[in-house]
Amino acid sequence: MAKVVVIGAGFAGHTAALYLGDALGKEHEITVVNRYEHFYYVPSWVWVGIGRMPVEKTRFRLKPVYDKMHVRFVQGKATEVHPDDRYVVVESANDGQVIKLDYDYLLIATGPKLNFAATEGLGPHEGFTQSICTAPHAEASRDAYFAQLERMKKGEKVKLVIGTGHPGATCQGTAFEYITNIHKDLVRRGLRDKAELLWLSNEQNVGDFGVHGVVANYQGEMVSSEAFITAVFKEYGINYEVQKGVYKVDAENIYWEDFTGNRGQTNYDFAMLIPQFKGIQLKYVGKDGQDVSERVVNAAGFVLVDGIYGLPYDRLKMNPTAWPELYQNPYYDNIFAAGIAFAPPGPISEPHTTPNGMSITAAPPRTGMVSGIIGRIVAKNIIDLVEKGRMTHSERMTEMAAACIASMGDSLWDGSAATIMIYPVVPDFRRYPNESGRDMFVTHMEMGLGGAWMKRMIHSTFMYKLQGRLGWKIVPE
Ligand SMILES: Cc1cc2nc3c(=O)[nH]c(=O)nc-3n(C[C@H](O)[C@H](O)[C@H](O)COP(=O)(O)OP(=O)(O)OC[C@H]3O[C@@H](n4cnc5c(N)ncnc54)[C@H](O)[C@@H]3O)c2cc1C
Repeated sequence: MAKVVVIGAGFAGHTAALYLGDALGKEHEITVVNRYEHFYYVPSWVWVGIGRMPVEKTRFRLKPVYDKMHVRFVQGKATEVHPDDRYVVVESANDGQVIKLDYDYLLIATGPKLNFAATEGLGPHEGFTQSICTAPHAEASRDAYFAQLERMKKGEKVKLVIGTGHPGATCQGTAFEYITNIHKDLVRRGLRDKAELLWLSNEQNVGDFGVHGVVANYQGEMVSSEAFITAVFKEYGINYEVQKGVYKVDAENIYWEDFTGNRGQTNYDFAMLIPQFKGIQLKYVGKDGQDVSERVVNAAGFVLVDGIYGLPYDRLKMNPTAWPELYQNPYYDNIFAAGIAFAPPGPISEPHTTPNGMSITAAPPRTGMVSGIIGRIVAKNIIDLVEKGRMTHSERMTEMAAACIASMGDSLWDGSAATIMIYPVVPDFRRYPNESGRDMFVTHMEMGLGGAWMKRMIHSTFMYKLQGRLGWKIVPE
């Protein structure tokens, strides 16, 4: 009997767990360790953050799903991995008991550590800014936003700043959704004229989103995401400043350095700024108790897999095979990583270093869809290894398609969404020697009410699929 342990039940780990349970659960031991008892449908936290959806609607309990799928669930925090002796140490959430879980195959799908500490004064706990990167953060952001609404109702003018809170932050799409949803919410409340909205980001250009921007077919013409998103900002009266690396925040100001090395500050009343992401720090302990982290993770704590690391950007850009295809650790071939937990070989967007030496470079996003796809690939390969002894599945981010639907207001009557279909996620300039390195036939942008309906439908469809309900496998990641 094979033993498989999955750490983390987000898009990557939970998707993998469903496939593993379905194929192997009855005869083998599949265990999922997750800090929380719920799966959270993270994308809908944008709506939690403006008070349009309660957190309860974005989650479901994992245990009943895993019971059905023949998966053992341990609610707790994994603290150590012993890769030579093949076990994981977990602190149980129920009684604090320390549990040892043996494995033949390990999938690390722990998502990001939100590294607020990398920017002085950032974050809702020890800083001054909001976040929508966890459920409690999204609720706190909603409350802080509501407090600003009260000021606006009294006739005060406020400044709301949304974007990235670190020169190397990622997840710009999330922040973009938040600022456009806030715009729509303010319009609906008749308060739009009381708020100045500012987009402040580390991107090279508006619409870069950490994926090198997109050039796509929009209503029969080739349009860049820069032109597309700039038009949205202009239409919505949202001011924008890019090429800015935020390094400090205090109660009144956000401090940044720009691409030219100039330093400046932006005042604010409310700010939601995405922090730097790092890998979740687990201890990797070798046979004789020695630290073997260097074999498993990079300096930022992301799991090293079968990518080619250390290439300068110009070479990485021209080498699509530098991106991993199996998500398998080269040193310990029974350890895999999926979703945000795996170490990408480098940025997708052009890196930039200022004359003062500050790197202002959007990190590569591993979105929910990408994380789910990778979770499925890894699960299928583990199933292969258990059943056939060899892997038959692979997919690099330079071969992967993804749809990004950025809601701009949740209303099904006057909401809207920008829908961007990109293929491949990471440009492949060898196969597609055009400006954006993507297949122009498939890569597409749309905007309109239909997208708002689709975003809602995706919420419901995924909540259905991820509970392992009838036909769950038919719904793509
Ligand atoms: C507000 C918001 C909106 C977004 N919107 C979209 C969108 O519209 N479309 C899209 O594709 N993507 C979107 N994303 C991105 C998407 O949510 C992430 O890419 C995705 O959640 C990453 O999945 P993951 O499984 O790698 O990590 P996570 O979802 O973070 O899951 C990791 C899991 O591991 C658990 N864990 C961590 N450490 C441990 C430990 N030591 N022991 C046990 N468990 C542990 C965590 O508790 C968590 O449950 C959005 C993100 C945010 C924040």
